[in-house]
Amino acid sequence: GTSAARLRSAELEERIRYKPGRFRVLTGDRPTGPLHLGHYFGTLHNRVRLQDLGVEGFLIIADYQVLTDRDVAERLVEYVEGLVLDYLAVGIDPDRTTIFTHSAIPALNQLLLPFLSLVSVAELNRNPTVKDEIAHSRQAAVSGLMFTYPAHQAADILFCKGNLVPVGQDQLPHVELTRTIARRFNERYPTGGSPVFPVPDALLSAAPLLLGTDGSKMSKSRGNAIPLGASADETARLIRAARTDADRHITYDPVARPGVAGLVLLAALCQERDPHAVADEIGAAGAAALKRTVTEAVNEFLAPIRARRTEYARDPERVRRVLRAGNERANAVADETLREVRTAMRGMY
Ligand code: ATP
Ligand code: MG
Repeated sequence: GTSAARLRSAELEERIRYKPGRFRVLTGDRPTGPLHLGHYFGTLHNRVRLQDLGVEGFLIIADYQVLTDRDVAERLVEYVEGLVLDYLAVGIDPDRTTIFTHSAIPALNQLLLPFLSLVSVAELNRNPTVKDEIAHSRQAAVSGLMFTYPAHQAADILFCKGNLVPVGQDQLPHVELTRTIARRFNERYPTGGSPVFPVPDALLSAAPLLLGTDGSKMSKSRGNAIPLGASADETARLIRAARTDADRHITYDPVARPGVAGLVLLAALCQERDPHAVADEIGAAGAAALKRTVTEAVNEFLAPIRARRTEYARDPERVRRVLRAGNERANAVADETLREVRTAMRGMY
């Protein structure tokens, strides 16, 4: 569960600080729209922090995964290049972090076959995140990809022997499945030497589930997000439209008042303050005052990130160079792992 993951995260922190060279980070995003504050506080912040601690990073743009909950990947080039701009703007350094696209790495799909053979249909069926995503899906029929994408993610993580996965809470069941697949592969295909795959750990941030303006998980594709690259005016408009409740007095109560608490938490994260203190300060001034506070806090926090994003957007060729170099490196790493996998499986060419 989440509290066990939190405990593990605290313990992990110490081990990472002690020997950052022992870790390799894999994380990523679907190119379904611009990154938002949920990404920032849920995972981006951790990715940059780990990179700056000296942990090697791989960052996947999961383009095939867009097809899990829709028929066609729309505006794909725009969204892929937009993700790269978001990464650069928050401080990802392409010289230290390999940024690549799933569709450019054929070995990932070859790893998927043995991985699928290691999990049962029942295990795929009971994944709570997949269930939630089916509930929010735009498709009438649920595709096979929807059920199998967590196994794809295992390939995304394990191809580079990633052992540290900084993610939001929704990804915990997927990392758990990846751990299962790694263990079972190592057991079923012993090498005589060290096992082929590490058993990776999820690393949760302090805000593993940021809510959007409708009170449900902030998501690119649910129309409830505040994008990192939005303008100050757009931000004000989005926050003004956020759902609150009938109780005028502002408190911080995530369980009873998710809408209000989500807004309070946003301001608190941007200002590095305690959410209870933020709520107390607003108190009887009510929801309108809360929204003004949040808007100011978010805009101030994002101003430097937005300025850098605008600057990088002037050089689209640079973005393409980053992807070409990242794909080349990811392919080299993936081919090497696939070679080890085939050797371990004896008789596979
Ligand atoms: P989509 O709606 O298209 O699924 P998304 O907003 O859920 O988009 P993903 O690309 O699926 O974004 O997720 C990328 C990473 O960001 C994952 O590690 C996920 O846990 C994290 N993340 C996404 N939304 C949030 C959120 N609201 N709070 C914390 N972490 C989040
Ligand atoms: Mg998602």
